[in-house]
Amino acid sequence: MDLKKYVTIVEDWPKPGIRFKDITTIMDNGEAYKYATDQIVEYAKEVDADIIVGPEARGFIIGCPVAYALGIGFAPVRKEGKLPREVIRAEYGLEYGKDVLTMHKDAIKPGQRVLIVDDLLATGGTIEATIKLVEELGGVVVGCAFLIELSYLEGRDKLKDYNIRTLMQY
Ligand code: IMP
Repeated sequence: MDLKKYVTIVEDWPKPGIRFKDITTIMDNGEAYKYATDQIVEYAKEVDADIIVGPEARGFIIGCPVAYALGIGFAPVRKEGKLPREVIRAEYGLEYGKDVLTMHKDAIKPGQRVLIVDDLLATGGTIEATIKLVEELGGVVVGCAFLIELSYLEGRDKLKDYNIRTLMQY
């Protein structure tokens, strides 16, 4: 399946000059959403993941069905102030702005094989911060999966030591 057919490019959103890749038009199509999910499920099997981690909010949309399909857990990464119990935090820079990501201190058990999932790899800042959180908790990052990679932003360069799978490249 040519998944790119289901991505909608939105010009100048959320700021002038940004060509936003809208994946809601993958999700609202049952076949495309299932196809994309199945690709990541296969990758999760290849890397023998035993938990999925995804940053809010689109990382949940992609990561949760993968966890469900495999019968394994999902641990959320959230912006500061959203998780109710004790957290660890990591700062990161976005393609457009700066923020803080957090995870519950007990979300990952030491030695757990973690697959990190998000919709899109841009500069790699979000995933770099997510990796930092997972490793601080003792998790082993066995892979990072994305629907979309914006190759021209060279996020992959930040992830040289990690196994990466992207379903579409722009
Ligand atoms: P990075 O931290 O620069 O790699 O940016 C990746 C994050 O920004 C992901 O969590 C995406 O959800 C979001 N993002 C950046 N650009 C886009 C886009 O064009 N479409 C959808 N999400 C985007």
